[in-house]
Amino acid sequence: MIYNVAQLLKEGIGATRQREIDGELRDIDEYNPGPVPVVGAAKLVRTPDGILVTAKAHMELVQPCRRCLELTRTPVDIEFEEEFVPSIDVLTGVPLPEAEKSEDPELLIDEHHILDLTELMRQYAVMEAVRLALCSVDCKGLCPTCGQNLNVADCGCSKQAIDPRMAALAKLLGSETDEGPVVAGPTKG
Ligand SMILES: [Zn+2]
Ligand SMILES: [Zn+2]
Repeated sequence: MIYNVAQLLKEGIGATRQREIDGELRDIDEYNPGPVPVVGAAKLVRTPDGILVTAKAHMELVQPCRRCLELTRTPVDIEFEEEFVPSIDVLTGVPLPEAEKSEDPELLIDEHHILDLTELMRQYAVMEAVRLALCSVDCKGLCPTCGQNLNVADCGCSKQAIDPRMAALAKLLGSETDEGPVVAGPTKG
């Protein structure tokens, strides 16, 4: 996922390289500290400002199920298109001031003309894993009232159990009722 693009930067706009992705990502997040194998393909195209990378990759990440929070292994396919810009001029070696101000350091080609997809790949992978993570398509999730994992056991809470925030509101409204409901009287007129 690390490419030397010195030669490509010297070529004309539209010059293209096809690269296989076959590597590992480390320290993806707290659930995936170890090396995670990544396979895919990347296309690098010379643009007026830098190099446009179109990448597709596949990996498997561990992520908490978004319904029940149990850790689950999730296949993740990512696809992205991002433009990398050089930090120095490839012909003269002069630093490019615009690049220094870049708000996306992960999109900078370094002073040795190395284009590194690792950080971008990590960000896209985590985003996608969080979105997809589901232990099974029919995961029942957690009871909103007591937090019981409903895949493991039924908790017996009312089926009409409402959101805890709504419960707090209901209680609030209930206490008002105890002191007499606040009802708008007939308006004058
Ligand atoms: Zn689940
Ligand atoms: Zn419950």
